[in-house]
Amino acid sequence: MSAIREQFDTPVLYDADVVVVGGGPGGIGAALASARNGARTILLERFGCLGGSQTLTLSNLFAFVDSRIQGGIIQEIVDRLGKGGGIVLDCPEKVNRSGWGPEQGVHFFDGEYYKYLLDVMMKESGAKVLFHSFVVATIREGNSLRGVVVESRQGRFAVTAKVVIDCSGLGEIAWKSGAPVIGEGGFAEGECKGQHMGYGYAYYASGIDVDRFRAHAAKHQAEWGEFSAGRNLITQAQADGRVRLLRNSALIRERVGGRAWILNPSYTLQKGQHPWEVEAMTAGEIDLRRQARELHNLFKAEVPGFEDSVIEQTPQQPLMRDGHRILGEHVLTEHDIRNVKAFDDSIAVCNMPPDIFFPNGGHKFAYDITPYDIPYRCLVSTEIENLLAAGSSVSMDLVTWAAVRYNTPSVCTGQAAGTAAALSVRNKVTPKRLDVKVLQAALNSAGQKTSMRALPDDVMKDYARRAAEATPLRI
Ligand SMILES: Cc1cc2nc3c(=O)[nH]c(=O)nc-3n(C[C@H](O)[C@H](O)[C@H](O)COP(=O)(O)OP(=O)(O)OC[C@H]3O[C@@H](n4cnc5c(N)ncnc54)[C@H](O)[C@@H]3O)c2cc1C
Repeated sequence: MSAIREQFDTPVLYDADVVVVGGGPGGIGAALASARNGARTILLERFGCLGGSQTLTLSNLFAFVDSRIQGGIIQEIVDRLGKGGGIVLDCPEKVNRSGWGPEQGVHFFDGEYYKYLLDVMMKESGAKVLFHSFVVATIREGNSLRGVVVESRQGRFAVTAKVVIDCSGLGEIAWKSGAPVIGEGGFAEGECKGQHMGYGYAYYASGIDVDRFRAHAAKHQAEWGEFSAGRNLITQAQADGRVRLLRNSALIRERVGGRAWILNPSYTLQKGQHPWEVEAMTAGEIDLRRQARELHNLFKAEVPGFEDSVIEQTPQQPLMRDGHRILGEHVLTEHDIRNVKAFDDSIAVCNMPPDIFFPNGGHKFAYDITPYDIPYRCLVSTEIENLLAAGSSVSMDLVTWAAVRYNTPSVCTGQAAGTAAALSVRNKVTPKRLDVKVLQAALNSAGQKTSMRALPDDVMKDYARRAAEATPLRI
């Protein structure tokens, strides 16, 4: 590969105690916690809103929020969404075709209200948010980061900080720092060994006659279940060559006003292709849009209620279901979450089972797990003293990542990382050397549960019963 050498001075426009890169669930938890704990905090986000995948890729929900398990900022967000009218209970008497709704801790929200609420919460906390600020590099000095370099419409600038938190969703900041990362190789074993999980895609349709569709779905329940909608129709259309889709069913969630959220298009990355490569991303975007169009045309032609509907909105980017994570002082594994469960340095409890999307179109999910701990060491870079990670960038194997990356645990690891960063600055130690007991106490006093050991017996029994009864879900 040929190379060019660039030489220029980069102005330092901002100095902070803590810089958070990325405004998704991890970054939201991190920036709010850091600012509330007194640190001068800057959050850098490359797009123009907060919410990350939840708003950019139209994944407008929090899954499995349970005040007995999490508490803290995630509970506050859900409560404030509810109070402000931002929780969507569309077609309330009908919304739970699958039986998954608020009682199960699954909260669908109005993405636009959520963006607004997050702006308000950031302002209240004192965290400074800079949108349209793409972090392209870090300023590394030995085993420490002095800050990050941003590209923007106003040019290139630097932000210096005492602690950097990677909430990019893909461990991008750790990777660009040259810090050790994991996730380069995709699946470690099995048929998909060496391949990454592909991209996912959901879109909004509008103009649906929801009542007609509901009536049709009620008559043909096996075909139009919420999580495996249209399996026969799509399979037949694939065989006839009418659609080229990787997956033969869709997840359809009806909304008020004739809208629906439809999840189906999927893109396979070939062996050797990485999800962060621009050629893969471009090919993925184009193919996923094509798939959404073909699927929707099929629904319009064949499904009662869809005749006059249109694709109203496709996402800002596909769902990246795989990528780098920092190499932390501990790598959380499937064995840990299924068997070990408790850790002395735990900073959050997680109730999410792995939700695995295989490159060949297969899907594996069953709500078959009891709560488990996430150790602080998974947030701490092995090499860089003042680099933390949160959300889907924390240190874990791919199967565990398919659970812990989810929105709800991401806010919790964010709250832990932000609190740790602020305490490190206050106590003049690096995050690596922070006393985890001090961190746990601060998290507990801010309402976040930090250990499954502290959960009442009846909560564990409740989850054990649910796990024993779990049936695998097929999308
Ligand atoms: C279609 C779909 C369905 C899903 N289903 C569910 C579900 O049912 N339940 C659930 O809990 N989760 C679900 N998820 C997954 C969930 O949304 C993610 O796992 C979660 O958002 C991860 O949070 P994060 O903060 O780590 O990363 P992200 O949400 O990806 O946020 C990362 C943020 O960082 C920004 N960023 C990245 N790099 C840079 C950079 N260099 N400089 C500046 N900014 C940067 C990005 O723009 C983004 O805003 C789904 C996602 C999608 C798209």
